[in-house]
Amino acid sequence: MLATLRAIAESVSQQACLDSALACFVNMVKNAMQTECCSIYFADYSQDNFVLMATEGLNPVAVGKFRIGFTEGLVGLVAQREEPINIAYAKSHPRFKASPEVNEESYNAFLSVPVVHQKKVLGVIVVQQKVARVFSQDEESFLITLSAQLASQLAHAEIKEVLRQDESSHQTSVLKGVSSAPGIAIGRAFVVIPKLDFKSIELKKDSNQALQQRLFSQAVSATRHEFNTLSMTLSDSIPKEALAVFDVYQQLLDAKSLGQNVEAQLQQGWCAKSALKIVIEKLIAQFNAMQDPYIKERAVDVKDIGLRVLHHLVNTEHAVKRYPKDSVLIANTLTPAMLAEVPKGHLVGVVSVNGSANSHASILTRAMGIPAIWGIEDVPLLQFDGKKMILDAYSGRLYISPSQILQDEYRQLKYQETLLNDKFVAEQDCESVTLDGQQISLLLNAGLDLNTESTNTAMCDGVGLYRTEAWFMQKGQFPSQIEQEKWYRQVLESYYPEPVVMRTLDIGGDKVLDYFDITEENPFLGWRGIRVTLDHPELFLDQLKAMIKANIGLGNLKIMLPMISGTEEVDESLALLAQAYFELEEQYPDKVIERPPVGVMLEVPSSVFMLPEWSKKVDFCSVGSNDLTQYLLAVDRSNARVADLFNPYHPGVLRVLQKVAEECHQHDLPLSLCGELGGDPEGAILLIAMGYRQLSMNHFSISKVKWVLRRLKMSDMEVLLAECLAQSTAKQVLRLTRSFMIEHKLGKLFYTPNHG
Ligand code: PEP
Ligand code: MG
Repeated sequence: MLATLRAIAESVSQQACLDSALACFVNMVKNAMQTECCSIYFADYSQDNFVLMATEGLNPVAVGKFRIGFTEGLVGLVAQREEPINIAYAKSHPRFKASPEVNEESYNAFLSVPVVHQKKVLGVIVVQQKVARVFSQDEESFLITLSAQLASQLAHAEIKEVLRQDESSHQTSVLKGVSSAPGIAIGRAFVVIPKLDFKSIELKKDSNQALQQRLFSQAVSATRHEFNTLSMTLSDSIPKEALAVFDVYQQLLDAKSLGQNVEAQLQQGWCAKSALKIVIEKLIAQFNAMQDPYIKERAVDVKDIGLRVLHHLVNTEHAVKRYPKDSVLIANTLTPAMLAEVPKGHLVGVVSVNGSANSHASILTRAMGIPAIWGIEDVPLLQFDGKKMILDAYSGRLYISPSQILQDEYRQLKYQETLLNDKFVAEQDCESVTLDGQQISLLLNAGLDLNTESTNTAMCDGVGLYRTEAWFMQKGQFPSQIEQEKWYRQVLESYYPEPVVMRTLDIGGDKVLDYFDITEENPFLGWRGIRVTLDHPELFLDQLKAMIKANIGLGNLKIMLPMISGTEEVDESLALLAQAYFELEEQYPDKVIERPPVGVMLEVPSSVFMLPEWSKKVDFCSVGSNDLTQYLLAVDRSNARVADLFNPYHPGVLRVLQKVAEECHQHDLPLSLCGELGGDPEGAILLIAMGYRQLSMNHFSISKVKWVLRRLKMSDMEVLLAECLAQSTAKQVLRLTRSFMIEHKLGKLFYTPNHG
């Protein structure tokens, strides 16, 4: 059963267009289930009906023409109920609707399942048979599994088709994602080459056959050269017999085998990449179908060779590529390193298929003020390369090849955005105080973007979170104590005399060091933050000593410990800090060494209940609302699939944040918050109403939040908070905060362009 399911999924994915994918699908399902009829309907939301897209067994002439309303017939019922229907006599069902144009009179047995992708019904699969019978449980679960397995594949096929049609008719296509850094970008796509596989290659024709032939032979030569070099390098270390594998590879590359087949495809007008894809996928399927396990294994070799040739093909195209001046960077999974590679001033927007608005790369885009969206549909990215794009990171939309009218409209919106931003900047150095005189300390989150970070101390009251790990991530190895000391000194000096809260190394989760492998199945629940540094006291002591030494003569350092979940971690950390301090005192008897204040981050839910004890041990605490939300709601902060569930406005999260404020007040423990929630104006006002008097955020948020709170009264914010805390969903909370902002004439902050 599993093999059949796989075979169907594989064959469908190899089809060049949606029509042939669906035709292949219904054919294979009909055969696999040994029935007489299989059909697939697609939902057309613009007309509220289903259209017959492919069939084996109904009238083929009806394909593309026959439509049935969303609430009509058995097809409509399956979609409405979102569950299978399995009946022996379809015609006797009260919802059966006779449709003579499809010629289904002879069928009795009817099994149908909906195709659902991300809560949306995409279509309905129907299997029919003349003999009146109820399909077995096995048959029903086979079709359900198939539908679930193929739902995303069909969704992507549908999107690809829309993109293809738009391309040929020069229309604008739009893809949807989740916005993380608001704003508008108008520019050209620069696709960071994704990890190559044949799935990501779109089948395309090219009229310049000679060029495609040349590209292919160049790629083959480069692959040959690569094998020669590899075989020479390995000749001393592996036995001669093993080296023979390279001869086999060279033979496969020969004009007579791979070459000949690719040549045939090129002559049919396919471009070099498509021709290679067609040949390699066919060969893999042939090898996979063999009984002999040795021959079956050869499929791996064929794929390896194919990918190497493909790599050279793509690289020749990319070798001459430059980042456009207005690059919209598009990647499968965006990393901080990809952002760093774009020449200064060339980056206007960012799009990532994987990851979400709460991942660290996303926090970095916000700190850089670059509009970004995450979690767009997983379509072959390379087809976007070089295309004109509009990225609307207010609504999470990406427009590909936008029309001139749309571009003009967005240029106008961008202009309005700049005007509003100028207003924020005009007040950014003013006092941070509410209309009724409550001072709020706004601090900077720093350390992420080492090149463009603001050190403007007039706009903030110091640094509330310095993420030291970002610098470690850019290094090729752990920096020495001396190197670290120099770096920290520079940071402390640039904000002096304002305080700088330096967080000790917080790696793990989605923050990886190339030179320190932490590969785990469940990294956010694994070896992260303080757990790593306590297991490596040599690293921890080095960092603590470097910080303390850097602080000599300045005195504006505070140290903060990440991911604390238990008292033992607090105690062990404090013991190591004391050790670092005493050793330095001994080492430098003639210097005045200060013992910096120490705080803990409240990121793990258990920490919220430990404040009575911890308040006696540490000097301050800071809520890491990104991780606290992740752990309270059990939602991986960087998983695009559950991004909708990551919501710090969830009343459960808000009530915990309120409890933290009360506890800290009761135990006289200074409190701040340095997660992204504090940099969101709506989040900031709720937190201020809860009693938070220190919020740390990126510098774009400082000017925006300051502008907002200077226009509001504490008493009004407190009324809003009481209402929000009484709600039972995040949606209700956000509705209230949004109306509050509009009521107080701050609605322009949320201007969302309305384009379908
Ligand atoms: C947080 O978790 O809220 C936080 C500030 O730390 P980071 O985002 O670096 O994990
Ligand atoms: Mg954190």
